[in-house]
Amino acid sequence: MKHDYKKLQDDVRWEDISEGGLIYAEGNSVAVNTGDWRTNRPIWNEEKCKQCLLCFPVCPDSSIKLEGDKMSGINYYHCKGCGICANVCPFDAIDMVTEE
Ligand code: SF4
Ligand code: SF4
Repeated sequence: MKHDYKKLQDDVRWEDISEGGLIYAEGNSVAVNTGDWRTNRPIWNEEKCKQCLLCFPVCPDSSIKLEGDKMSGINYYHCKGCGICANVCPFDAIDMVTEE
């Protein structure tokens, strides 16, 4: 999703911004698709995956998807392409490719 930053700037008035730019609403990060910034994309290879789940706790963006106690893919809306999951995977089940 592309953002119109000029429009965002025009729409936000200084009176609407909290002191110090603090955000008080909790749980709002899920609403922001930070995956837009990604330049590298992790590709999960389900056949190679042994479900060790080592990738799950190291992802800084909580983008390793689980179904029950099994990895089921990657949340590309929030994955920023850091490559940590691919780096820790002992079975080479995640490849990093350049984002198109
Ligand atoms: S670290 Fe690799 S093998 Fe383990 S769950 Fe993640 S992708 Fe699968
Ligand atoms: S590339 Fe980084 S942000 Fe994306 S799933 Fe892997 S560890 Fe998480």
